[in-house]
Amino acid sequence: MPTATANALTFTLHPTDTPTAEAERAAILAQGGFGTAFTDHMVTIDWREGKGWHDAQVRKRAPFQLDPAAAVLHYAQEIFEGLKAYRGADGSITLFRPDQNAKRFNASATRMAMPTLPEHVFVEAIEALVRVDRDWVPGGDGSLYLRPFMFAAEPFLGVRPAHHFIFSVIASPVGNYFKSGPKPVKVWVSREYTRAAKGGTGAAKCGGNYAASLVAQAQAYENGCEQVIFLDAAEHRWIEELGGMNIFFVRKDGSLFTTPLGTILPGITRASLIELARDKGIQVEERRYAFDEWQADVARGEVTEAFACGTAAVVAAIGEVQFDGGSFTIGNGETGPVTQALRQELTALQRNQLPDTRGWVHKIA
Ligand SMILES: *Cc1c(COP(=O)(O)O)cnc(C)c1O
Repeated sequence: MPTATANALTFTLHPTDTPTAEAERAAILAQGGFGTAFTDHMVTIDWREGKGWHDAQVRKRAPFQLDPAAAVLHYAQEIFEGLKAYRGADGSITLFRPDQNAKRFNASATRMAMPTLPEHVFVEAIEALVRVDRDWVPGGDGSLYLRPFMFAAEPFLGVRPAHHFIFSVIASPVGNYFKSGPKPVKVWVSREYTRAAKGGTGAAKCGGNYAASLVAQAQAYENGCEQVIFLDAAEHRWIEELGGMNIFFVRKDGSLFTTPLGTILPGITRASLIELARDKGIQVEERRYAFDEWQADVARGEVTEAFACGTAAVVAAIGEVQFDGGSFTIGNGETGPVTQALRQELTALQRNQLPDTRGWVHKIA
């Protein structure tokens, strides 16, 4: 049953014959949480050397059948994306800047020697999944987190780019990313482990970056923190970003600055906040910032707020900073006014509650 055509690629819909019962779904949606519950369907598209993209399906969510020699299990040729579908007060469902996720997905694919996917196919795959699972998009503060990803499925132990890839999209209804809700987060600055080096994969959204960050994340938990801040690999001095979020700082004059692109992941939330702030007349600088400068600036009251940002948590104030040898509190440890205002405005834009003057809101029919 063809549902949509994209060039030569036709999405075939095979609806599940065992959909989740309405009462059970309602209970799951009421739970909130992040990334533990999943919808009934998934998208899969295959790519093979010589054949290109083919066999696009929207089908019952089910385990993959993978050969034990599948290249992803050995050499981690894998990339992913993350974005959300929101339900408006009128019941309409929207995405926020999915074209930017499509572009970044292809940038990641290129870095990881994987095939690129036409941007419109990427967006269409997401739309197709949201349409079939539209009852899973929570109202209120919730959203449907969408996870497009691609991995090397070829059974082959030699080291080279694979000849068979699977692109897939799954979806998970979510509440708040941090268990503590929109309270300020405590962060652990890792002076031992780094996330990315020049020439490495820091700017690609690949699973390997996360694998490499987990030991530092475990140390953060041991120290009572929720997130890690990574410093640069060369000098262990310059602030880069968190394990899965970019970072902004607020000066006492209300101006903002953030760390420059290069080895960090180019966040769509980061880019949107820069544009939003500049449109409001707030000065935003992209500059290198040393960890010891940050400490000194907080101590003398020059830097009054800091926040992490990304699709999952949107904007989360950083309340306390811990590291091997000490800790400090930002402002009074609460969410500051600039962070709060940006969070509110971006959230309202993402949820289509403000006029969309920039063409950022993508409606799903
Ligand atoms: C995904 C991600 C971000 C945030 O990107 P958004 O597009 O804003 O969601 C930041 N840093 C890392 C390491 C990430 O993986």
